[in-house]
Amino acid sequence: MRLVFMGPPGVGKGTQAKFLESRLGVPHLSTGDLLRVAVKEGTSLGRRAKTFMEEGRLVPDEVIGDLIGERLQRADAGSGFVLDGFPRTVEQVAILDRVLARIGCALDGVFILRASEAEIVRRLTGRRTCPRCGAVFHIESRPPKSAGICDTCGSALVLRPDDTEDVIRERLRVYEEQTLPVAETYRGRGLLREIDGTGDAETVRGQLEAEIVRR
Ligand code: AMP
Repeated sequence: MRLVFMGPPGVGKGTQAKFLESRLGVPHLSTGDLLRVAVKEGTSLGRRAKTFMEEGRLVPDEVIGDLIGERLQRADAGSGFVLDGFPRTVEQVAILDRVLARIGCALDGVFILRASEAEIVRRLTGRRTCPRCGAVFHIESRPPKSAGICDTCGSALVLRPDDTEDVIRERLRVYEEQTLPVAETYRGRGLLREIDGTGDAETVRGQLEAEIVRR
């Protein structure tokens, strides 16, 4: 199955995309994760992306197009994928259309998770991530066993540099302005399914499961 998984930053996309990955047996491809690896490794793509990411702005479309074009052609994406964080602009929808046409396949669906701005700010300012293994915690709803320490690998947890309140509000503004039109494009194609992202992870997962079974 080939899915696009959309939603504002902090709505719980990463957690649910991991569920879809194991449920469907296809890779979860997050452009945010791919970019963070590139920044950490200091590749030329990472150097181009760094400032945009720190300021909560979108990385230019041509950078993302190269990144995703290359990733979707790898063997593990052959039987399907869950795209997370891409496409984020109407131009990126066209980029994805071209990549899919080149590899001879089409999308099966687009899921969008929704939540209020207040809930998103609460979730993101409390989010702590592990810089080594990528595990994600929340100081209230999913605290690590020992404060500030990753349960999985023991590293010190950090607040992502773009999870500060100012940058979160900028990311939400960008989402509304540039990414919501993407959802409307897919609605027009009859592919969009809306999911309430405000409940706990189990409840949201149940709704996703129902959507998958319905397809
Ligand atoms: P995320 O982890 O999806 O919230 O992405 C973190 C940051 O990476 C975003 O705020 C953007 O700066 C950048 N980014 C991720 N995906 C894209 C994309 N499809 N287009 C442009 N920039 C992106």
